[in-house]
Amino acid sequence: MPVPLLDLKAQYATLRKEIMAAVSEVLESQCCIGGPKVAELEAKIAAISDCKFAVGVSSGTDALLNSLMSLEIGAGDEVITTPFTFFATIGCIARVSAKPVFVDIDPLTYNINPKLIAAAVTKKTRAIMPVHLFGQMADMDPIMDIAKKHKLTVIEDAAQSITSTYKGKKAGSIGTVGCFSFFPSKNLGGIGDGGMIVTNDKQLYDRLSIMRNHGSSPKYYHKYIGGNFRLDPIQAAALLVKLPHLDKWSQARRRNAAYYDRKFAGTAVKTPYISPDCVSIYNQYVIRVQKRDELIKLLKDKNIGCEIYYPVPMHLQECFNYLGYKKGDFPEAEKVANDVLAIPIYPELTDEMKDYVAETIVSFVG
Ligand SMILES: *Cc1c(COP(=O)(O)O)cnc(C)c1O
Repeated sequence: MPVPLLDLKAQYATLRKEIMAAVSEVLESQCCIGGPKVAELEAKIAAISDCKFAVGVSSGTDALLNSLMSLEIGAGDEVITTPFTFFATIGCIARVSAKPVFVDIDPLTYNINPKLIAAAVTKKTRAIMPVHLFGQMADMDPIMDIAKKHKLTVIEDAAQSITSTYKGKKAGSIGTVGCFSFFPSKNLGGIGDGGMIVTNDKQLYDRLSIMRNHGSSPKYYHKYIGGNFRLDPIQAAALLVKLPHLDKWSQARRRNAAYYDRKFAGTAVKTPYISPDCVSIYNQYVIRVQKRDELIKLLKDKNIGCEIYYPVPMHLQECFNYLGYKKGDFPEAEKVANDVLAIPIYPELTDEMKDYVAETIVSFVG
């Protein structure tokens, strides 16, 4: 039985007509840039994130980049973050010429370990960039305490965690800004690239809006050196069709996670740890196993999709050699990178599929 890691066609099949109609509406209007769909999506994402403002952008990466640019973080500045994340988090810090400063992760949640942040703060530190990995938010209270004490900005990389909560607060609503991605594999995925920035700061909102449009306000008068970070209205239209289903999909992911948790209980499979402070949206269900690479081979043979998120922590990436980190600097991140494996968790999985995945893995670990 083939079980892919993610089956976008299964979701599309349920919304085909509506998405076609919404895309067609944009085409017929020939409102090809910005317009009412983008504005409507911004209002709705702000609302579900408990934030006052939202700015649609071209991707999650550009959400991070625009945030850093609008906050004037650049050369000479340091940004404290996690080495166990997707490249974009760190790539954006480096692209604005700021210096990524890593601290190790919490070995239970795989998110940045707040206990290690204070020691990394220097006179050059401008921001902390926690990443809410796999659908679970980082431990935000101690992060915000350090930020307040040192007057630092907090940029939440919430690309994998839209609507996820920490002590009842929504992802993106605690820091200075929150960044979302609508990459198709995220819980709210577009039909291509897209992203969104949320904030409660009106001044920053104005700046983010101008920055996404080449920094021009009014047109052809360039206040800042911005970029083209605009959200495509076709993406906004498709996302507006999907948005009402987001909570139901995240619930289905949580049900699937609970199902796997039961199946793996008492076995050598280490299941995800969700803090009692958090409600995860399970963008990924990531297990840890010994002999992971053998398990990957078996899963391939059995037609079961899986992926390593992430095989190489950022401090060991070739392009970041210049930062001067070496193997052994962040042992928890390195350990996790060696034995994590994401298995299918998407909402449309059937019981048979979940049984097949779980039984194949349980038979492997014995
Ligand atoms: C997906 C992702 C991004 C980038 O989002 P894109 O929309 O693909 O540019 C950034 N950070 C994290 C943690 C992500 O998972």
